[in-house]
Amino acid sequence: MRKFSADLIYTLEGDPIPNGIIVTDDNGKILAISQEKASFDPNIERFKGVIVPGFINAHCHLELSHLKGKIDKHTGLINFIKAVIFQRATPEDKIIAAMQAADEAMWNDGIVAVGDISNLSISAYIKEKSKIRYHTFIEMLGFEANKASEIIEKAKLTQKCFNTPSSLTVHAPYSVSKELVKQLAAYSKGIYNPITIHNQECFEEDDLYKRREGAFLQFYKDLNINTETFTIQAKSSLQAMLSVMPKKQNILFVHNTYTCLKDVFFTKRFEQLVYWCFCPNANLYIENKLPEFDFFKYTEHPITIGTDSLASNDSLSILDEMKVLQKHIPYLSLNDLLKWACINGAKYLGFDDDLGSMAIGKTPGLNLLINLDNGKIGEETQVKKLI
Ligand SMILES: [Zn+2]
Repeated sequence: MRKFSADLIYTLEGDPIPNGIIVTDDNGKILAISQEKASFDPNIERFKGVIVPGFINAHCHLELSHLKGKIDKHTGLINFIKAVIFQRATPEDKIIAAMQAADEAMWNDGIVAVGDISNLSISAYIKEKSKIRYHTFIEMLGFEANKASEIIEKAKLTQKCFNTPSSLTVHAPYSVSKELVKQLAAYSKGIYNPITIHNQECFEEDDLYKRREGAFLQFYKDLNINTETFTIQAKSSLQAMLSVMPKKQNILFVHNTYTCLKDVFFTKRFEQLVYWCFCPNANLYIENKLPEFDFFKYTEHPITIGTDSLASNDSLSILDEMKVLQKHIPYLSLNDLLKWACINGAKYLGFDDDLGSMAIGKTPGLNLLINLDNGKIGEETQVKKLI
């Protein structure tokens, strides 16, 4: 049994508890949460700072970890994608070593669960052995409508290689056909199949959807992709996608760098279980632009945080993402920011029975945050993993 105390405990189940005490068993399961004004129990491990639940990384690509530092910054998304395609041919042992190191670094930085995008099965063994809980999204790509069934069948085969939770998903509006999304919706009926889609990461995506013009057309030409079946949608990619997405699955829109207020309001009209995900360091890396965070004041849908991959980020640290978010959304309270970083991601991944907040019976992991700046996360803030 262990007992932890700090200046404030953020349980995310209620208000932060000043001088709270968390009691856990040896496996980190919470046995008691209390506030004791004057406790002289010598067994209490006392810390300066705040104790928060383990972080949830809602969006990552472990299999791109070997691309750390390999791709130029600020090139824009289309050049970034080309560079990733070009760099993919790396020896398998190097890819595996990079994934292993990234998995360990995430654990040491206080991350307890990850929503991870996979195109291949190469990460399956690492995920099975990891201390981190993974949900793998088997990602499907294919802009040509007549290939949709073939793509789904191939993804199902990849999924069979994973012994940890997984579901089928689609990559991004510019890389999938509407037919593929419709077939995914049909496949998802009656089963648990949470979905992640990269959304409005560059302005060219809406050029394509609204007017069938812009740099993506040349991109398809360069890659010999047939675009005949793609017609003008006359609406944003988010609006076009949401209308064909499954109804009873969690759907995560990732990045949202160019999402407008109209799109945010549009999601209210649908019954879908929409979640948002911000990956600000990846947005700065690729496009050097951040989402219009103020628009998301009007959303009722939960916001989560992801790191994206080491191809587009210098670290896979949720704390580093929170630093950017706090800096650009100064009015956001630490309690709300922690909900983005912990419980909302746990709910999205279906791990909230155990992770994401502190309650008796849960095993969420405990992180100590030190060097806060006036009670909020600042440049100097550090995370220390307690359990
Ligand atoms: Zn991504």
